[in-house]
Amino acid sequence: MKRYRIALIPGDGIGKEVVPAGRQVLEAVAGAESGIGFEFEGFDWGGDYYRAHGAMMPDDGLEALRGQNAILFGSAGDPGIPDHITLWGLRLKICQGLDQYANVRPTRILRGIDAPLKRCRTEDLDWVIVRENTEGEYSGAGGRVHQGFPIEAAMDVSLMTRAGVERIQRYAFRLAASRPRKRLTVVTKSNAQRHAMVMWDEVAAEVAGDFPEVGWDKELVDAMTARMVNRPASLDTIVATNLHADVLSDLAAALAGSLGIAPTGNINPEQAFPSMFEPIHGSAFDIMGQGVANPIGTFWSASMMLDHLGEPEAARRVMEAVEYATADPKLHTRDLGGAATTAEVTEAVCARIAAGAGRPLATA
Ligand code: ATP
Repeated sequence: MKRYRIALIPGDGIGKEVVPAGRQVLEAVAGAESGIGFEFEGFDWGGDYYRAHGAMMPDDGLEALRGQNAILFGSAGDPGIPDHITLWGLRLKICQGLDQYANVRPTRILRGIDAPLKRCRTEDLDWVIVRENTEGEYSGAGGRVHQGFPIEAAMDVSLMTRAGVERIQRYAFRLAASRPRKRLTVVTKSNAQRHAMVMWDEVAAEVAGDFPEVGWDKELVDAMTARMVNRPASLDTIVATNLHADVLSDLAAALAGSLGIAPTGNINPEQAFPSMFEPIHGSAFDIMGQGVANPIGTFWSASMMLDHLGEPEAARRVMEAVEYATADPKLHTRDLGGAATTAEVTEAVCARIAAGAGRPLATA
């Protein structure tokens, strides 16, 4: 039996509800004659830890994560702590510290989900957005001087390196080449940002030369929002900068039916460090503690994690159970217009995984 060490970081808000639910699903997979097992280690980092210790995670926190095979993360965000502290002190610290430079966000309309685009068929929307995850607009470069005076000045520098741009473009082209349609759209804004974004375009064209089998095009980020709504079937794999992809992937999640469904992986493709998987939603303090958070985004993230660990059959098993649940309106949580609780959805998904133990899975 293969055993994987998994770090669990629930973080804040509903992260504390959906990560334990994700653990239950992984335990169900482990028990389902899959030949794999897990050793979980929990880390209580986040807003409460900050209040007690003055930091979102300990100084040697990254060391504790390095020995894990993967990380399942909930969310970081607390109404009592400024957002830039919660974000930079935990999630971005882990992404940058473990060189998780590719943020991968699949979007599909799962079975039974009523998505808002009425002219879009389910098969028209099947995207993977690849987000540069360590530099660009969120490089952290910049400064603020003369605070409180009329001459106060502040700047955030969008820093792009050729190495950083090339590795994310290469990852995106490779991913596009592995998907049936072999299509990549490179999102840009080189008409207005005439330095780094022009380099971004040039590097894309250079890398494209190594992937003749991939059909690719370029789209300005503003035009991209309209294309996602009006011509979803024209898109497959998408690569964009840190900020552009951040915005586009929230739009993608909404177009697929709910923020509560969408998953993401922060990937270190070379596997030199563990990768981290998380639902894309935030801490959602408005529904925290009520037991109504949709755990599907976390389950899909757990499935991505299994794929990344080299367990595609287990990953498929989780997604089959997830779509079994989404197909049943009685198992829809409030964000999907239903009344199911987190626990009910989790139990149904775990039961489905157990029921399918040892048998090949039906395709969705
Ligand atoms: P943060 O500041 O941490 O990003 P937020 O509350 O501003 O948190 P989200 O957590 O992304 O932003 O939530 C936006 C809205 O979507 C909220 O009204 C929230 O209740 C809802 N929502 C987000 N995730 C879920 C989920 N998993 N299940 C149900 N509703 C959700």
